[in-house]
Amino acid sequence: MSFYEGEYLMPTKRKSGGRAGGKRGRASGVHCHSCGKLVPTDKAKKFTIYSSAVDYRLAKELRAEGAHIPRNKKIAYYCISCSIHRGRTSIRAKADRRGK
Ligand SMILES: [Zn+2]
Repeated sequence: MSFYEGEYLMPTKRKSGGRAGGKRGRASGVHCHSCGKLVPTDKAKKFTIYSSAVDYRLAKELRAEGAHIPRNKKIAYYCISCSIHRGRTSIRAKADRRGK
């Protein structure tokens, strides 16, 4: 078996290479919300952040009385480094990883 016959494959940590979307090829990029790094869309972690102008405690009381409080929806993308740093994504053991 030679290297050029296509039989040999380098060992990989993840089958998907840490990406979603299968055999799509090159994906367009988004900027990380925290550090500004350009990350491919299928590799970036997407989070929805809700913010309200009303204070949390006050909003809780108002909601209990049946009031509707408007909130702003904001979509943020994080790179893997920032996602792990902020505790949004956790590092899993080899056995716990899916799609191996
Ligand atoms: Zn980042």
